[in-house]
Amino acid sequence: MGILEHFRHYQNLFSKNELYRSEMEKRNHKVSIFEENIVAMLAERAPHEERMEQGRALGRKFEGDVADLDSKIAKNRDQLSSATQASEYSGLRAQIEKYEEAKVTLEENVLAIFSKIEEIEKGLADLDQRLAHAREEYLELNTRVKEENSDFEKEISAMETPIQEARSKVDSELLEIFDRLQPSLGSNVLVSISGDNCGGCHTSLAPNVIEKIRQDSDIVLCNFCGRVLGC
Ligand SMILES: [Zn+2]
Repeated sequence: MGILEHFRHYQNLFSKNELYRSEMEKRNHKVSIFEENIVAMLAERAPHEERMEQGRALGRKFEGDVADLDSKIAKNRDQLSSATQASEYSGLRAQIEKYEEAKVTLEENVLAIFSKIEEIEKGLADLDQRLAHAREEYLELNTRVKEENSDFEKEISAMETPIQEARSKVDSELLEIFDRLQPSLGSNVLVSISGDNCGGCHTSLAPNVIEKIRQDSDIVLCNFCGRVLGC
């Protein structure tokens, strides 16, 4: 094997390994998006629940007020039946009328509150259904990703030794170039020329550069992107 072949072999293994890692990353990212979605839905649920509790408490209070008025009205009616004077009688009647008006208003309020509560309950039921669906999807995805990632992990750990072996055979100057360029340019550091152009950045190469590559006697770099050029 020539020095470029050793380099190419290492680069192939390295990029395969990188690919597996990025696939794992992608899957983990997707799982976390699903998780965030569930958290957001739970956060959306809380204020509705609070409003419903407030509505129920207010409804109970108004119902208590209605019951109070009922007993006051009943008491006045009792007094009415035993009233002996006309002024006492008309006073009691006016009082009963006032209580009854207040009762009508309160009952309207209670109805309005209960219809609001019903509306909130419907919204919550809808949200809960979406939440249950999202949880189901999340669990499914999580199980699938765990399985797939464990396959990738196996592949990655099986490649550890071959990668180290391949790396140990790479010319030190080429290795230095690879380690320097790989983080920014990716694993495609050794590229074949494509026609008269660099296979990495596609800049056209001078004829003497092409000639040097064909001779395969020296390391040739692209003047523009710095990649190693091969046939
Ligand atoms: Zn280039």
